[in-house]
Amino acid sequence: MQVTIKCPSCNTDSSFFLVKDNLVGPFRCWKCKALFTVKVSKGELITCDPLNEEDFTKAKAAAEAKRKKAKEKTA
Ligand SMILES: [Zn+2]
Repeated sequence: MQVTIKCPSCNTDSSFFLVKDNLVGPFRCWKCKALFTVKVSKGELITCDPLNEEDFTKAKAAAEAKRKKAKEKTA
């Protein structure tokens, strides 16, 4: 499913593909580099909260660790 997120600070659309139609995670605008926590439900953007660099890094690391764990489980 393709989701489009409009950056609240520069109004640029970013679109990406989701395997599932729900997502809560860090997002970085490709244009202005602003950081946000986005929440997507059923392919639609629900919330887009500004995030600071530190929290973004943390959230990204947590998401990556989760992905790694899931990968190990299936491997
Ligand atoms: Zn932006």
